[in-house]
Amino acid sequence: MSEQGLDTPPFRPAHASPRSGVLGLQGVSRFYEQGSQRLEIFREASGIVMPGEVIALVGPSGSGKSSLLHICGLLELPSEGDVYIAGRSGQGLTDQERTLIRRDEIGFVYQFHHLLPEFDAVENIVIPQMIAGQGAKAAQAHALQLLERVGLRDRASHRPARLSGGEQQRVAIARALANKPKLLLADEPTGNLDPKTANLVFDMMVEICRRNSVAAVIATHNLQMTTRMDRTWLLHEGRLIDAGRIQTK
Ligand code: ADP
Ligand code: MG
Repeated sequence: MSEQGLDTPPFRPAHASPRSGVLGLQGVSRFYEQGSQRLEIFREASGIVMPGEVIALVGPSGSGKSSLLHICGLLELPSEGDVYIAGRSGQGLTDQERTLIRRDEIGFVYQFHHLLPEFDAVENIVIPQMIAGQGAKAAQAHALQLLERVGLRDRASHRPARLSGGEQQRVAIARALANKPKLLLADEPTGNLDPKTANLVFDMMVEICRRNSVAAVIATHNLQMTTRMDRTWLLHEGRLIDAGRIQTK
């Protein structure tokens, strides 16, 4: 047990290959072409995330956190370099293969919940499972289990409009975990919540990832949050810096 009472961070061998992690980044750069100008967001970002390892991604607004998460989630390809999901090269896959990996192996949580408003909490978690080919009964049972895990079993039949902001995000987290992903990517998931609710939702998300060996990269503005994570990646002046584990005083 660490000093924070959390499980020991997963073992990550020195000089590990980016193929050895759930997520591996190798020399990833992101440029945007604007007319004749090339806007460089970050360059040569490298890193590995092991199963159950929870990484904070921090950096000022505009530093490229969302862009990097899109690349990690195979929503965009990097301008240079490559990203590996469970050992498979993003560059080496077809569009269809990337879509299947996103569906089956990666969960996404955004700042706004993006739940389907006309469906209740449990249906919002059932739908992605059925799209992935799961039968209705098993999907329903698993959705209820996930709602239990985020403490919302009694809100199963509530539509998003009848949930608080924190509850909506907890359903969004449960939905992101619906297809048992290996990797969770969260883009300022608590940025829209009051500080007390943000802490609660954040801790719940980190705890579920650790308990289920889901690797996570969570972009956050809140430096206090980084002390609860295994490592912090800092986007600073176009570089990705691994700041290691940030300890509380
Ligand atoms: P963050 O999430 O850290 O706030 P973003 O990844 O959203 O940062 O954006 C990083 C930079 O990339 C910003 O300066 C933004 O304006 C720029 N950017 C993002 N998307 C595009 C795009 N499609 N075309 C041009 N520039 C973009
Ligand atoms: Mg962003």
